[in-house]
Amino acid sequence: MAILDIIRMGHPTLRQIAAPYPVDKIGSEEFKTLIRDMHETLHASGGIGLAAPQVNIPVQVAVVEIINNESRYGDIPTIPFSVFVNPVMTVIAEETAGYWEGCLSVPGMMGYVERPQHIRIDYLDEQASARSMELTGFLSTVFQHEFDHLQGHLYIDRLKDPSLLSFEAEYRQFHQGKLAELPD
Ligand code: ZN
Repeated sequence: MAILDIIRMGHPTLRQIAAPYPVDKIGSEEFKTLIRDMHETLHASGGIGLAAPQVNIPVQVAVVEIINNESRYGDIPTIPFSVFVNPVMTVIAEETAGYWEGCLSVPGMMGYVERPQHIRIDYLDEQASARSMELTGFLSTVFQHEFDHLQGHLYIDRLKDPSLLSFEAEYRQFHQGKLAELPD
């Protein structure tokens, strides 16, 4: 196990379209090591999601874990540690809602982003089984943020109002509680 370095905005890997993960390598020792290391890195960072490009591995793999014993995230659904390989997202309803987003690759900042609030995702799990999931509300935003990393996008590309982009202290002082919130 290893805690991996998280690369930050400005690193070109964050702006690449990640390569599809080879399906025949899912379950390999290399794959298992990647997933274990991403899990440990996610825990060490205190985040709820991590995409492989954020650890400078430009493949379409992301992990999400939301454990609701952290009051920080308030009243939101929990998601056990889950692996998403080669995900495809489909918007089911175009209606958007906004949340404050943060990103481990843009440390210390928060921005307000509006995204569609009802999506379907189709992906392979860590056993290479095809799965799909419908997501609404906050979780819809979480998965769009994570999967954006696989396409070379950061949340700052999608700011509803760039004048609201804030450092965390200023976010807490001037904005927290006034609009919905998504720490990451
Ligand atoms: Zn992010």
